[in-house]
Amino acid sequence: AMLHFCVLFPCSEGVFKCPEDQLPLDYAKIYPDPDLEVQVLALIIRCIHSEEGCRWTGQIKQLQGHLATCGFNVIPCPNRCSIKLSRRDIAEHLQHDCPKRRLKCEFCGNDFTGEAYENHQGICPQESVYCENKCGARMMRRLLSQHSLGDCPKRTQPCKFCGKEFVYDTIQNHQYQCPRYPVPCPNQCGAATVAREDLAVHLKENCNTAMVLCPFKEAGCKHRCPKVTMSRHLDESTKMHLNMMCGLVSRQRQEIGELRKEVEELSLSHDGILIWKIPDFSRKLAEAKLRTNYELFSPSFYTHKYGYKLQISAFLNGNGSGEGSHVSVYIRVLPGEYDNLLEWPFSYKVTFSLLDQSDPSLSKPQNITETFNPDPNWKNFQKPSNTRNSMDESTLGFGYPKFISHEEIKKRNYIRDNAIFIKASVEIPQKIIA
Ligand SMILES: [Zn+2]
Ligand SMILES: [Zn+2]
Ligand SMILES: [Zn+2]
Ligand SMILES: [Zn+2]
Ligand SMILES: [Zn+2]
Ligand SMILES: [Zn+2]
Ligand SMILES: [Zn+2]
Repeated sequence: AMLHFCVLFPCSEGVFKCPEDQLPLDYAKIYPDPDLEVQVLALIIRCIHSEEGCRWTGQIKQLQGHLATCGFNVIPCPNRCSIKLSRRDIAEHLQHDCPKRRLKCEFCGNDFTGEAYENHQGICPQESVYCENKCGARMMRRLLSQHSLGDCPKRTQPCKFCGKEFVYDTIQNHQYQCPRYPVPCPNQCGAATVAREDLAVHLKENCNTAMVLCPFKEAGCKHRCPKVTMSRHLDESTKMHLNMMCGLVSRQRQEIGELRKEVEELSLSHDGILIWKIPDFSRKLAEAKLRTNYELFSPSFYTHKYGYKLQISAFLNGNGSGEGSHVSVYIRVLPGEYDNLLEWPFSYKVTFSLLDQSDPSLSKPQNITETFNPDPNWKNFQKPSNTRNSMDESTLGFGYPKFISHEEIKKRNYIRDNAIFIKASVEIPQKIIA
């Protein structure tokens, strides 16, 4: 067996191992050799931190002594902060990093551990700082809040009239423009102050001294007086105002009448064709049998735009030679809007048709049709006088007393759903229309 020289430093487990082969040592075979130990301890070695850069060399027995001062040896922080560092880094750690280092605040002079000092920085009440509103003032931090709430000329403050926020030193100026700033009424009406922006409305509408128009001005009252005295005017002028209102009502009624007439004119047909539906035929025929000269009138229509105004009429139980046996159909000229621009007498060809309401897809409708040229001597084709009532019975229309017999009208589908259609059309030469 090989002889082992062992310099025995206690290992962590308290078990000795051979440094050569790492085998546990047999205690029975270990025995001290004082001579050899002296020789061994005198051997020259390098520091155990030589790889990290320690250049120390010396005898083995001097190593422990060196390690107590070796800059590369790892030692715990003397402040017991739980950090371990090589000895040469300790000074730096103690000064800057050690959470347990002691520091003095340069502003308040208080003593802090490193951790507490870092927290204290930036909040030390004794530190001198500039006002955050940039007013230029500099003071100890503990005075800052009082300054920025109460003294700082750059602090913001709401305008007490309009509520908007302003920098304190501009608020005075703002009050010359503030729309809600209370101002007295220039007319000294006795009202409490009025917000500046409401003054115009106050003077015009609410101020007791404002001149106002009589509420009956639409009716024609021209009275104008201060608002306070208007009620007296109203009391005193009831009768006059009532008369004015009567006049207004009658003017408006006239206006409404004119508008209605215009609307009616606009709704009339303007193309020379009228299709006149007579609903409820059987009842109207029965009534015509009871009442002689029971004449039905169509809506009026124009022969063309700006043309003659015409109307047709029907006696369902006949008239003249058709009385009691036929339906009679007539046309008459009504006073129209453009009569003064037209040629007289009215002389254009007129066609009457009784429309066959049979389904055109089943058989060709067979309308009953009569066409005539107006007799220029017939009184009704002369220019109608403006004073004549359009329903004047003395001016008989021109047409056919025997347009269709009561027998014939029952055939085909001239009556359908108890209604008939009479069509009137007027042929106006193109050159007249143009
Ligand atoms: Zn060393
Ligand atoms: Zn430390
Ligand atoms: Zn401090
Ligand atoms: Zn300030
Ligand atoms: Zn304001
Ligand atoms: Zn006023
Ligand atoms: Zn009045």
